[in-house]
Parts: sequence; C-alpha cells; structure tokens
Amino acid sequence: MSAKIIDGKAISASCRVKIAEDTENFKKTHGFAPGLSVIIVGEDPASKVYVRNKKLGCEQVGFNSSVYELPENTTREELNALIDKLNADDSVHGILVQLPLPKHLDSEEVIARISPKKDVDAFHESNVGRIMIGNYSFLPCTPAGVMVLLKESGIDISGKECVVVGRSNIVGKPMAMLLLQANGTVTICHSRTKDLSEVTRRADILVVAIGKADFITADMVKPGAVVIDVGMNRRADGKLTGDVDFASVSEIASYITPVPGGVGPMTITMLLQNTLISAEGFAKGK
Ligand code: NDP
Repeated sequence: MSAKIIDGKAISASCRVKIAEDTENFKKTHGFAPGLSVIIVGEDPASKVYVRNKKLGCEQVGFNSSVYELPENTTREELNALIDKLNADDSVHGILVQLPLPKHLDSEEVIARISPKKDVDAFHESNVGRIMIGNYSFLPCTPAGVMVLLKESGIDISGKECVVVGRSNIVGKPMAMLLLQANGTVTICHSRTKDLSEVTRRADILVVAIGKADFITADMVKPGAVVIDVGMNRRADGKLTGDVDFASVSEIASYITPVPGGVGPMTITMLLQNTLISAEGFAKGK
C-alpha cells in the first residue's frame, strides 16, 4: 500500500479535546453549559446508535444534553409542539431531529420548524442559503468534517481538480460548495453522469458519497489522488465498508480515508463544534 491513511479517529479525538477545553472556558465565562437536544421518533436501530453516540459525545466535552425518544405513532402536531418548546428554551442551543423519520412525518417541514439559530445540522434552508453565499455560522457536519480531515493532513485545495460523487443535500452539494470556497475547481457527479470514470480520473481530490459498497475501483482514480470515502455500507456479514474499494485504491492514492475510522468519527465532532458555536452566539445575544 502506498497511500497515507487519514486517521479520522485520531483527528476527531484531538478536535474533541479542544472542544472540551473551549467548553470549560465557556462555562467559566458565562456560567452555563452548551445544551444539545436530540429528538428521535420510532425504533430504527441504526438511528438509536447514532443518538446514543451523540449523547456520549456531549458528555465527553461537558455539554448538557437531552434525548427525546418519541413513539413511532407520534403525530405531526406533537412533534411540532416539542420543537416549538425547545426553540423557546434558552438552555437549549442545538436541536437535532434524527433522520429518517417515520413515513407519516415530513422531514422538510420538521427541519423548517427548527430555529435556524439552533439548527446545528445546518439543514434549514436559511443555513443552506448562507453556505451558498459563504456567510455561515454552521456547516453541515459531514462535509465540515471532511474539510477538517483535509486541513489536518496538510492537503492544499486551492487550484486543485476536486470531484464529488453524489449530490445529496446533506453531503454531496454542501461538500462541493466548501471545496469551491476553498478555491478548488469542482465537478459534481451523480447517477446520470456519463462516463463517470473519465471524470473521477481527473480528480486531484476525490470525495465519494453514493452509498454503494466498494464502487470506486483503482482504474477510476488518478495515481497520487487524495481519496475521501464518505460511504457507510453494511456488508452481508455485518461489516461496515465504504464506497471506495480500499484494497485497490490505497495502492495508487496518495492519501485515503478508511471505513470505519475515516470520515465517520468526524461527523459527531462537528455537531459538537456547531453546538458550541451556537451557545457562543446565544451568550453574545445574537
Ligand atoms: P443519498 O442516497 O442521499 O445520495 C446518493 C447520491 O449518490 C445521489 O446523488 C446519487 O445520484 C449518487 N449516486 C448513486 N449511485 C451512483 C452511481 N452509480 N454513480 C454516480 N452517482 C451515484 O446518500 P447520502 O448523500 O445521504 O449518503 C451517501 C453515503 O454516505 C451513504 O453510504 C451514507 O451512509 C454515507 N454517509 C456517511 C456519513 C458519515 O458520517 N460518514 C454521513 C452521511 C452519509 P442521483 O442524485 O442522480 O440519484
């Protein structure tokens, strides 16, 4: 293997140490702790694990946290009432509704109901718009985590050919926007892209977020490219794997993120960072 491994676990751990220090100082200065509220509706096992990890993350850095576990048959009115209550609660600085929601609830309506000031996932349309114009408080957690991994690995983005595979609102589109703001020359690919390999082979920095196990193979990657694998897929044997065929691509890339242990650990860390930023905004009366 020739690629250097970007160790998301280690980078995430050092970011959390810094967030914990900043939180300690914040509490001394302002006399209260940042607070995150997480709402989960229904029994999705993967969502339950994510929510538990978010709560643990809060404890680790010294935040207050509350988890609202609502039954599968929660009505739109009940969920809206809880969001309204948390929007009005001054001890809550971040509100997150764990997705996906049960089918009878409209996630777009729910996201729009969260106060943009407390939208630490950065999914609210006003926060999405602010990212477009480069004037933001919060960045969506997964793309923000990728940017930290690149920075901490000393990878310069300016002037580089950056290719993002995937155009979802939570990963692909904001990822492309952040790479553009860092002066990358950015191409976004999706399921209708003609000759995907031809485009991915141009990338100096290739970010893959499609949700298809081991899809990107070495013949689709330029030798020496930086390869960031956002994908999280469960194999039949229960093991987690990315969208990139790590075995072959790590032979030719210059840097690569593993799955697990690459992008994944950064996502909750960025959520904690956003909650601290929100609490600082509240402390300043913004
Ligand atoms: P979505 O399903 O919302 O989007 C997938 C995107 O990939 C779509 O834009 C789709 O194109 C594109 N795509 C699918 N198949 C192909 C193909 N054959 N060629 C080119 N493009 C294709 O997924 P998400 O963005 O939510 O997530 C992507 C992956 O990242 C998943 O594995 C998910 O689990 C993981 N993830 C990991 C996180 C982490 O913390 N590490 C956080 C969030 C997601 P089109 O638009 O044309 O349909």
